[in-house]
Amino acid sequence: MPKIKRRSISQRNAERAKRMRERRIDDEFRLSDIRRRANSLKIQRQTDEFKTEENKRRAEAHKIERENDEFKTEENKRRAEAHKIERENDEFKTEENKRRAEALKIARQNDEFKTEENKRRAEAHKIERENDEFKTEENKSRAEALKIARQNDEFRTQENDRRLNSLKIKREDEEYKQEERRRNASRMRLSRDKYENNFHLMKLNYESKIKEGPTHICSCCGGLWFEYSIKESTVEMLRNKGLPKEFIDTVCYLKNAIIKLCVTCRKDIMSNKVPNLCLSNGLAFYEIPDCLKILTELEERLTSPRIPFMVIRTLGFCKQFGLKGNLVNVPMNVDTNVSVLPRKFSDTHTIQLKLMRQMKNKNAFMYETIRPKVVHTAVRYLVEQELYKGEGIIISDDWLNEYSNERENFIIKDEDKEIGANEIMKESEFDDNDANWNESDDKPINPVATETLLNDEIEDQNDIGIKFAPAENNRPISILMDMKVDELTFPKIYCGKQRKIKENVKLTYAKIAKSELRMFDRRCGRISKLFFTYKKLQTRKFSDAISITLRKTKNTKNVTVAQMLNRDYVNGLIHNDDAFTFLRCDRSSPAFWELKKKELMAMNRQLGCATIFLTLSAAETKWSELIVILAKVLGNKVITLEEAENMSYEKTCDLIRKDPVTCVRYFEHRVKCLWEILSAPSGPFQGYELEDKYVRIEFQARGSPHVHALIWLKDAPKYDKNKPESIKKCIEFIDKLISVSSKPTQFSEELISLQR
Ligand SMILES: [Zn+2]
Repeated sequence: MPKIKRRSISQRNAERAKRMRERRIDDEFRLSDIRRRANSLKIQRQTDEFKTEENKRRAEAHKIERENDEFKTEENKRRAEAHKIERENDEFKTEENKRRAEALKIARQNDEFKTEENKRRAEAHKIERENDEFKTEENKSRAEALKIARQNDEFRTQENDRRLNSLKIKREDEEYKQEERRRNASRMRLSRDKYENNFHLMKLNYESKIKEGPTHICSCCGGLWFEYSIKESTVEMLRNKGLPKEFIDTVCYLKNAIIKLCVTCRKDIMSNKVPNLCLSNGLAFYEIPDCLKILTELEERLTSPRIPFMVIRTLGFCKQFGLKGNLVNVPMNVDTNVSVLPRKFSDTHTIQLKLMRQMKNKNAFMYETIRPKVVHTAVRYLVEQELYKGEGIIISDDWLNEYSNERENFIIKDEDKEIGANEIMKESEFDDNDANWNESDDKPINPVATETLLNDEIEDQNDIGIKFAPAENNRPISILMDMKVDELTFPKIYCGKQRKIKENVKLTYAKIAKSELRMFDRRCGRISKLFFTYKKLQTRKFSDAISITLRKTKNTKNVTVAQMLNRDYVNGLIHNDDAFTFLRCDRSSPAFWELKKKELMAMNRQLGCATIFLTLSAAETKWSELIVILAKVLGNKVITLEEAENMSYEKTCDLIRKDPVTCVRYFEHRVKCLWEILSAPSGPFQGYELEDKYVRIEFQARGSPHVHALIWLKDAPKYDKNKPESIKKCIEFIDKLISVSSKPTQFSEELISLQR
């Protein structure tokens, strides 16, 4: 029994201990449970608070978004409305689509812009973009189809009739008429504002416009024109305008399927008149035979019966990149005595200057050379031409004996021939210096002119201009009296043939010169020809102006022969500047600029002090657009902008030097495009209206143009040293427009590194 009892006690104890343990665990559990529950409650409470907060916030955001959405729809509706109005006009639509397509194309060329644009578009309106692209594509193709259809005249007239008729019916309704007027006005305003206030759009437009150059050939005058002066048509279209076939055949000298006509020619042709400068009037050039084509400028001189310019050539080192050094042309009296060609070297009116060798010139001392056989062959061709026969010119028999080598150094004085031998000895002395020669020293941005014209009259010219010095005992005559001087001076241009202008066609020399310089055949773009033409025109202008001035000026109304023979009277005219007024017509004279100065002073009085002084200069070698144009004009080669950028410096310079006229025309065009931006409200003057400007174009020593301009901005602050307020305003104004940055760009990196 006790055994059992003992067992039961221990059992009970064990049970109690177990219960105690369980309860303890239970208690711990309960406590932790309570804690846990409290915690979760706390969290839940926080979450709940957060939730309400969040809900509130979300509701707010939603509201804003909804408002935005409403606004968006509203805006879209508004925009769609405006667009619809614009679109209603068919012509505007085509125009707009074309412009948009152009702008898109340009923008796409910019890779950065493209990616950015794509990203932005993909994010927002993917579907819309597809629609838009589709629309543009569709519109483009539709515009294309319309353009083709319009070329058909019949279709065009029919279409116009149809449109006119429907308009006429509609216009009978007074309300419609007013509505239409309102619509037109608002459309015009909208498109103008949109363009002028969008600098980005204007920049794109500028970038596409500066790619244009005078590359379009007028079928009638053969001139090179910018696209905006050219209108295209076909023979059929001209015939439909009532022009006889024979007439069209005459005026359209260049036979192409598509007839391009410049504004001037078109105006004359439409009124059934043959334009003055029409090529069929005798202005077309002869084709240059091969034997003349290969002549150099110097070789041509040996074959010319007339030489109106004395040339000062540097006898020295051939500069890098084929630059021949400066060549100075001096106007001189033309001798008409030459009867045997080719000329002797000493008979070319050339002065050779011996120049000291410059350290930076790497090449050996060089002479210009001529090829006697080439010259002789050219002369043999020329003396067979009527023009040379008429002058009684014969070919020299012993010339080839005197110059018998394949190439002869062109040296006039015998003593100069020795330089060559001495030079070889000196060669080694200069080697060290040549190592330091820096390539960039010799790379001017504007390599245009290496020839200059010395415009001072030489001493024995008491009369004005160039005269002829004919055989003894004959009075010298003016350059203006010789009708063949152009042809006899430049055999390579005129091929030894005299230009035959049709009878009944009245052409002044100025007009002929204009035709020659604009001609698609660029043979007259040569600098020596430009100088000659300039000098001849100047002589003509002066001789005209003198007689007019003497008749018009107050003091010289009735001048008698006796007065003119009286030295005191003539000196009096000179003293009172009356004798110089005739120079006003010439831009290179002080009298001309005296007049311009007076005009500028008048502007200053009227408008007050100018606000900004601006200088823009040409960077021909950096303008790839110009190189593309020159390649087209000079070689009829189409190259890309990239190819132009990668062209070697020598080739670029060669193109630029070959055609100064096209370069200057392009510069003028580019400046014109720039003025468009400068005078727009969203332009760089930031809202200041361009009130007026005074522009002067100068030609730098190298012959490339630059612009000096004074600009008057409307409402610009005026400086007054007694008013601190005005000074503050001026500073703010200047800070707004003029800034400087040391952050390098691709153009300025080198410059900035040099300044540091
Ligand atoms: Zn024309």
